[in-house]
Amino acid sequence: MDSEISRRNFLKGAAGVSALTLSGLCFIDISPAKADTVKYPITRFRNVCPRNCHDTCGMITEVQDGKVIRVYGDPDHPITKGAMCVKGVSYIKQLYSPERQLHPMKRVGKKGEGKWQRISWDEAITTITDKFKETIAEDGNAEAIWGYWYSGTLGAVTNYSMNRRFLYKLGASRIAQTVCSEAGKEACKYTFGTQEGMDPEDFVNSKLIVSWGVNEQATNVHAFNFYNKAFEKGAKYVVVNPRRTEGAAMADMHIQPRPGTDAALALGMMNVIIAENLYDKDFVEKNTLGFKELKERVKEYPVEKVSQITDVPVKQIVEFARLYAKTDPAAIRVGFGIQRNTNGGMMVRTISCLPGLCGNWGKPGAGLLYINTNWKWNFKHLYHFDTPKSRSLNINKLGEVLLEKKDPVKALYVYNSNPLGMTANLNKVKKGLEREDLFTVVHDLFMTDTADYADIFLPASHFIEQWDFHQAYWGLVVQVNEKAVEPLGEARPNYEVFRALAKGMGYTDKTFDEDPVDIIKGALNTDDPRMKGLTFERLVKEGATRINTPDSPAVFFKDHKFPTPSGKIEFYSEQVAKHGLDPVPFYAAPLESRDGSPKLHKKYPLVLLTGATKNLLSTQWSQEAYNQEIDPVRRIEISPEDAKARGIKTGDLVRVKNDRGSIQLTALVIDTVRPGVASADKAWWPKLCPDNQNVNFLTPDTLADMADNSTYHTNLIQVEKV
Ligand code: SF4
Repeated sequence: MDSEISRRNFLKGAAGVSALTLSGLCFIDISPAKADTVKYPITRFRNVCPRNCHDTCGMITEVQDGKVIRVYGDPDHPITKGAMCVKGVSYIKQLYSPERQLHPMKRVGKKGEGKWQRISWDEAITTITDKFKETIAEDGNAEAIWGYWYSGTLGAVTNYSMNRRFLYKLGASRIAQTVCSEAGKEACKYTFGTQEGMDPEDFVNSKLIVSWGVNEQATNVHAFNFYNKAFEKGAKYVVVNPRRTEGAAMADMHIQPRPGTDAALALGMMNVIIAENLYDKDFVEKNTLGFKELKERVKEYPVEKVSQITDVPVKQIVEFARLYAKTDPAAIRVGFGIQRNTNGGMMVRTISCLPGLCGNWGKPGAGLLYINTNWKWNFKHLYHFDTPKSRSLNINKLGEVLLEKKDPVKALYVYNSNPLGMTANLNKVKKGLEREDLFTVVHDLFMTDTADYADIFLPASHFIEQWDFHQAYWGLVVQVNEKAVEPLGEARPNYEVFRALAKGMGYTDKTFDEDPVDIIKGALNTDDPRMKGLTFERLVKEGATRINTPDSPAVFFKDHKFPTPSGKIEFYSEQVAKHGLDPVPFYAAPLESRDGSPKLHKKYPLVLLTGATKNLLSTQWSQEAYNQEIDPVRRIEISPEDAKARGIKTGDLVRVKNDRGSIQLTALVIDTVRPGVASADKAWWPKLCPDNQNVNFLTPDTLADMADNSTYHTNLIQVEKV
């Protein structure tokens, strides 16, 4: 890379000052290093924040004498443009954290006790492969071995290559990774045929931006790069969120529905839009299927009834419906949180019908963005082996799976994940991990709660210490993550560990010898025209690059051809019917809710939302000392009305409970949450919380209506003063 140009652009963009902007974006000072730069020249590398975050920031890592001296946002990145969030700018602390584990270890105390003995990599690999061989010999297959991983570090190399090659060859139980966004993805496919939404850069052309169930300041900070340009041109901004987020505080309209009732709200809006003839008749006639059925269905949702379900005033529902229908073009940004409900799939499906009804597709500034994950890498090259026919176990059901006596999991190999922090219903998970007959391996940077229960701990390298390749799932950008420094201590990247495990199992397939750069080149060798010309060499030279699209910003569905079975937007979907649900959008109350389970609601009358925060990403960054200092207290936000009814004041220690568990938090009485709703951070390491329990000791492991997704937000609780 041309470090001088990058540096100049950065200074221009960041004005050379340290700043944390209101949107949550951070620029940092890059004043020159103090050391002798002639004797110790500074080399710059392009890295990519690999966390499970929409933005996938580009960053520059400066290395001097083999040590990272500074990291900052890549000013040449087409979307993130030199800024990262508060987490990203702290990467140097994470890389050199005194908490980082740098050597393989075996457990010498009881599970969870934290007593370890350092061992060699050879001993670690032999212990693991001996256990795997023993398990296979006992059962005749490898299904009692479960490779458990999610998205701690994303990337083609880390998440989609050697790990899968090894686990597929082994024939271990597969993992259904339906934690995050799967119900919503399925819903979008049912309605408009794809997991591809609007180009986020196209939001600059919108005259109305609806942020539906998103807290951009915590989860998608760069969205405001584009929203702000639209606002400068007069665009209106509507936020639909049960919490008054920072975005909601500056919105033209904030709609605060009862959690889990958003499908009813969308049906009520469609009732108004159709009754008042505000829909786009020409578009509907030519490009949609099932308008007649939808028209009948929305008659069941008059605004008065919808107001009762959602607690949103009738006047506001009508105003919102009219504003959406009359503003051309209008864009809807849908968050992942709302579909983490038992009715979450249908919720996203219902909202995703709105653009079709109002002709908001195929033109600049119009449409809906849930996710952008539709481009193809060469997965055949990455995986090498066919997906095995072994059983698939659901990631959200970890506790149940580990406690299952029939065909039990005997060996659990955990990487890129901290399940005893992030999985729902943690009392079950903890009990499962305590099983004396369960052999557990954890490969991680830090000694997480999950690692405390491991038999073998393996030290992981940091992403700055390894090669990888990334595509964002929000912006239309791909980028290579360069290895900037050697791993500290004896830390190793996934691909090296899985290669060693393959050798230990006696596998001689050449695919296990492939180095990470060749893995990336193989991934990029795809026939997807959007990836044409995006070679490894080009991406290293030019950094983050947009995929090929006819326009920039891209406008999808200009020809009004949608990749559904009918080629149209499907208000009526046979595919949904085959899934066992009503083919036309409808509202069903969440299983745990005032209307879905009145008896349970009487006992546990508050909905607990456990949303993302600025300083954590799932459980990542929990252990950082600066985070502990900034945020030493584990809080629960509760409305003044609910607090008063319970005699609770800000700062009181409260017990938060339901039938799954009971934890302690500190009350923050605040009107950012509406009555009937409480909110707490997702999710600190349990061992950094009172009683060693975080909010996921309360969340349910019930699965959603689509894709067996998680349902963290269908969660009734009671709060009482301790
Ligand atoms: S967590 Fe998200 S916003 Fe923060 S640095 Fe990483 S990609 Fe960027």
